[in-house]
Amino acid sequence: MTSSVRHNLGSFLPWPLRHIIQSIVRGVNKMTDCIFCKIVDNKAKATIGYQDDQATAFRDINPAVPTHILIVPNKHIESVNVLEAEDEQLMGHLFRVARQLVEQEGIAESGYRMITNTGAHGGQTVLHLHIHLIGGQPMKHPMG
Ligand code: AMP
Repeated sequence: MTSSVRHNLGSFLPWPLRHIIQSIVRGVNKMTDCIFCKIVDNKAKATIGYQDDQATAFRDINPAVPTHILIVPNKHIESVNVLEAEDEQLMGHLFRVARQLVEQEGIAESGYRMITNTGAHGGQTVLHLHIHLIGGQPMKHPMG
């Protein structure tokens, strides 16, 4: 089910029902077509650097810089556009994971950048929310 269908559902249904349906949709998506869900579930290969019950971090298959790690929630969330209040703790957790990774990678002091692309203009190609953690060389400015 696409996000547009989810949003359409959302406009017709009361919040509790919408919440239940979105949770089911997230679960279904996790079982089917999402490459990052497959990596989280160890059904697709990736170089995983960190995993716990909420988050997984693995190396980008096409690194743009010396350190290029993707940090994802284990549950399927398509993008920032569909975040719910219940996801607040999880989003903070992704940053805590990043904090640990930059120490492991030895880039905490030299610096790094964290990016979450969203939608077509944002350049999002994988529809499972992720943070790009990039470092290991000076970043280019300006952004955009
Ligand atoms: P975005 O364009 O922000 O959606 O970023 C998606 C990122 O996922 C890109 O940098 C891809 O190189 C990366 N990617 C896609 N498939 C895989 C995979 N199987 N394992 C690791 N990284 C991947």
